[in-house]
Amino acid sequence: MEFEAVIGLEVHVQLSTQSKLFCSCSTKFGSHPNSQICPICTGQPGVLPVINKKAVEYALKLALALGCKINLYSVMARKHYFYPDLPKNYQISQYDLPLAEGGEVEIEVNGNRRRIGLTRIHLEEDAGKLVHDENLPYSYVDFNRTGVPLLEIVSKPEIYSPEEAVSFLKTLRSIVRYLGICDGNMEEGSLRCDANVSVRPKGSKEFGTKVELKNMNSFKHVERALSYEIRRQIGLLLEGREVIQETRLFDETTQTTHPMRGKEEAHDYCYFPDPDLIEIKLEESFLEEIKRSLPELPLRRKERFEREYNLSSYEAGILTEEKTLADFFEDTLKIYPNPKALSNFILTEVLRYLNRDKIDISQSKLTPAHIAELLELVDKELLSITLAKQQVFPEVYEKGLSPKRVMEERGLVQESSEEFLRKVCEEVLAENPQEVVRYRGGKKGLLGFFVGQVMKKTQGKANPKLVNKIIAELLEQ
Ligand code: ADP
Ligand code: ZN
Ligand code: MG
Repeated sequence: MEFEAVIGLEVHVQLSTQSKLFCSCSTKFGSHPNSQICPICTGQPGVLPVINKKAVEYALKLALALGCKINLYSVMARKHYFYPDLPKNYQISQYDLPLAEGGEVEIEVNGNRRRIGLTRIHLEEDAGKLVHDENLPYSYVDFNRTGVPLLEIVSKPEIYSPEEAVSFLKTLRSIVRYLGICDGNMEEGSLRCDANVSVRPKGSKEFGTKVELKNMNSFKHVERALSYEIRRQIGLLLEGREVIQETRLFDETTQTTHPMRGKEEAHDYCYFPDPDLIEIKLEESFLEEIKRSLPELPLRRKERFEREYNLSSYEAGILTEEKTLADFFEDTLKIYPNPKALSNFILTEVLRYLNRDKIDISQSKLTPAHIAELLELVDKELLSITLAKQQVFPEVYEKGLSPKRVMEERGLVQESSEEFLRKVCEEVLAENPQEVVRYRGGKKGLLGFFVGQVMKKTQGKANPKLVNKIIAELLEQ
């Protein structure tokens, strides 16, 4: 019997507002524990929360970008449960009237496009963080994260493989970064995901019993946890056993999942509208304004890059994954209108350094003017591509200097004097009489060897085209 997996994701996106959802405390990551708290986010009696307009605006940006239906009237609700990282003993979230419903995320896996439907997007506050130390008989709690705004994005169970699940998350990450509403940093928890997964006989319309997977903080974890869980569930069914509905945790060291809590421990959250907060009423004009501010989204931009600049799907995909890189590419094209050469240089040289330093192009010292100048020097044969890559670009990257200046400082100006180069070529031929005989006897492949020798003698400064021409001429004599 063949089985298929059914996956639905619940993604939490931390909004990059300056202040928290209901108070003016900072949301900065990594500060000293409990240095960014106040009576409101620690849930002291008698305080009044006030919603952060920026957070609502950010939420709407995503909802509109994903084509959701916006509820012009929505309500914040209390979700009750007890946990030490939750000082109020309830979390302010949304329940039956969320900010947005429906919409979809368009993904691409191995060149195939699919639209994954969404159930809803709602706004809620984050909880604090427990810090455990094995050597101590107690734990610490840090409330800095308490009250930080989150968006919860719930997908329909329309994802059918771990690869699709990862693609969904990567696409969502790219979109929230394009919109500038979340930094997408999974290690710091700015983007978190719970995955629900079940299996069923292929072709069946009914859903199997689902298991919820938690504790995954990288794309790799999501992929591995889902793959393991799908194998485990199929194994159970093949043995004639049942899948139990439960929450399981992914264990990084064993690469397996293990039970955390069963259905019987499922909470009854006793949701009700938060009486301290007024309902959110949105005006159409506010939505229109946000709609107008939306940037072109990654997949559309990728399509346009393929079409307008004649790039491959692979090239366009990499160039448009980050908005900053796509912007850089197009800004450079304005002054250096050769998309193919520019794309090649960015995909190889520029990305090699950015990836090594784990930074974004906007955090680097590179400017469109510098890259354009560098590639023009190569086009005009004033600099060989080898020297451009090995000596000039690294210095431009590290110091933010202009390529011309680096060339001057390093004495790298290309040697294009035909008279001088002819002399060097003659020297090289004189020093290698056997190779000359072999070349004339038909081993034309030796041309590269001679050119290489000339480059060596000139410390790479010789204009390679010219050298090729001169050597060929001399050997034909
Ligand atoms: P719950 O009430 O247990 O929270 P929901 O219906 O709210 O369940 O769905 C939560 C998530 O689980 C959604 O992302 C949804 O797509 C997914 N989901 C629901 N049923 C299944 C299933 N049978 N298999 C896989 N995922 C599922
Ligand atoms: Zn506060
Ligand atoms: Mg649910």
